[in-house]
Amino acid sequence: MMTNLNKDIDKNISFLYYSVLMKIYINGKYYDKANAKISVFDHGLLYGDGVFEGLRIYSGKVFRLGEHIERLYKSAKAILLEIPMSIEEMQAAVLKTVEINRKENGYIRLVVTRGEGPLGIDPSPCEKAMVIIIVADIQLYPEEYYKDGIEIITASSRRISPDGLDPRIKSLNYLNNIMAKIEAEQAGCLEAVMLNREGFVAECTGDNIFIMKDSELLTPAPCHGALDGITRKTVMDIAESLGIRSCETTLTRYDLYNAEECFMTGTGAEIIAVIKIDGRVIGNGTPGRVTQMLTKRFKQKILEQQGQIV
Ligand code: PMP
Repeated sequence: MMTNLNKDIDKNISFLYYSVLMKIYINGKYYDKANAKISVFDHGLLYGDGVFEGLRIYSGKVFRLGEHIERLYKSAKAILLEIPMSIEEMQAAVLKTVEINRKENGYIRLVVTRGEGPLGIDPSPCEKAMVIIIVADIQLYPEEYYKDGIEIITASSRRISPDGLDPRIKSLNYLNNIMAKIEAEQAGCLEAVMLNREGFVAECTGDNIFIMKDSELLTPAPCHGALDGITRKTVMDIAESLGIRSCETTLTRYDLYNAEECFMTGTGAEIIAVIKIDGRVIGNGTPGRVTQMLTKRFKQKILEQQGQIV
C-alpha cells in the first residue's frame, strides 16, 4: 500500500518530470514544458484547424507507429494541410522525442496545426504548419473498470455528420465529443456513446464501440460516424485470427441494450468492457467471454511488437 510519504515523493517526482525533464518537440526544436509555446494566432487554436494522433509507448516501443503516421498524413491531405516533413522524418522525430523523454510506457500526442496566420478563417496566409510532439503519461480509466467493466450513457450531443466532415479525419475539432463527455460526467459516468444524425450508433467520445451479437462482432462503419480506429482494426484482426466473424454494420441503441457483450477500443483506453448502457445491464453485467479473450490477445500483440514473443 502507498503511504502518504510515498504519495508525496511520487507527486514531487511527477512535478519534477513535467517541469524539468519533459521535452516537447515543436517544429524541430525541443523545449521544456514551461517554454513550449505557440502563437495565439495559430489557426489550430483560433479555428481548430489541424489534425492529431494519439499513440502509445509500451516498453520503450511505439505501438502501431506506421499506422498512426499514415492516418495523420491522410487526415492532413483531406484538409489540404501540408505537413512540412516527410513520413520518414516524422517517424524519426516521434522516436527521438520518446528517446529524449526516456519514456518506457506512456502516451504520445502528435499535433499538426495549420500554423500562424492572420485573424480570419482563410488558411492560405498560414505559411508553415506547426508540428508538436508531446510525450506524457496516460491513465484513461481507473484500474478497477478494466476488471469490472464500465457504465456508459447515450449522449444527446451527436457526432458530426459524415457528410459534413469525414469521421476518418482526426481533426482538432472535438467540441461535440467534449459536450458528450460532459453529459457523461454529469450522469456520473466516464464515457458516452454518440449517435449520428440519423440516430444510429457512431462511437464513443474518444473510443470506438463493439458489440457481440449472435456470435458476431459488430461495430459501426466510418460512414456511420466512427473514426477508423487503429485499436478497432487490431481487434478486428485478432477476432479474425480467433475465427470470430467481425463486421461493420448499422447499430441502434436497441442493439447495444440487447448485446451479448459490449466493449470500447482506443489507443488510450485499449479494450474496456461496457457492462451497463443507459441503465440497461449488458449480458450478465460483467466483462464478457469474447471481450476477455480479445483483451488477452491484444496484450499479447503488444508483447509481440516488442519482440518478446515470436
Ligand atoms: N474515436 C475517437 C473519436 C477517438 O478520438 C479515438 C482515439 N482516441 C478513437 C475512436 C479510437 O481510435 P484509436 O484506436 O485509433 O486510438
